[in-house]
Amino acid sequence: MPQDASNSDSPSTGHGLPGRLVIVSGPSGAGKSTVVQRLLRECDLPLTMSVSATTRDPRPGETDGKDYLFISSDEFNRRREAGEFLECKEVFKLGRWYGTLRDQVASGLKAGQLVILEIDVQGALNVLDNREFNPITLFIHPGSMDELEARLRKRGTETEQAITARLETAAGEMRFMPQYQYEIINGSVDAAVAEICQILRDQKENERCSKN
Ligand code: 5GP
Repeated sequence: MPQDASNSDSPSTGHGLPGRLVIVSGPSGAGKSTVVQRLLRECDLPLTMSVSATTRDPRPGETDGKDYLFISSDEFNRRREAGEFLECKEVFKLGRWYGTLRDQVASGLKAGQLVILEIDVQGALNVLDNREFNPITLFIHPGSMDELEARLRKRGTETEQAITARLETAAGEMRFMPQYQYEIINGSVDAAVAEICQILRDQKENERCSKN
């Protein structure tokens, strides 16, 4: 069951634009990307995805401009200096940077869309600190650390060092779950997609009611 830990009953988006941010966080290997991609295809709401920039290398099957904007460290620093990021973070302490680009977010919000940010916990906290936004926040996890480790190993895309770093980060991230409005246990992708779509529908319905 979705759990709404938020005490706020104000659905105001804050930034005055018709769209709304939806933050999806959770440990790497929790299946967030799969759930989000299916949500974009199957949920009957005006959803869009903010494509983050990263300095990490593409994994097999990932496409530049769709999964991420894969850019060099120099390019990342240049954009950071130019203030192009809403938030950015070195995620696994391995020199890999990730960041949300302001223009990705702005275009969706202006168009009245639900703009999904799939970002880490620190990035989410930075966005929450920015009072301009009142995002819907979801935390996805696979149920246990053992299950998470099994999924990371099954994916087979990471070195042993990267798996260790991701598991350490995951243990730290799980502690931030209570700061999110909704906890989603990704036992089955179908169920997680249906659950999130219903949460977003309900949130939109609440917004409509509060405007009347
Ligand atoms: P991955 O390398 O597995 O694609 O992503 C690693 C982690 O980086 C995930 O937890 C993901 O949510 C996070 N991440 C991806 N894009 C961003 C971003 O733009 N900002 C932040 N703060 N984290 C991000």
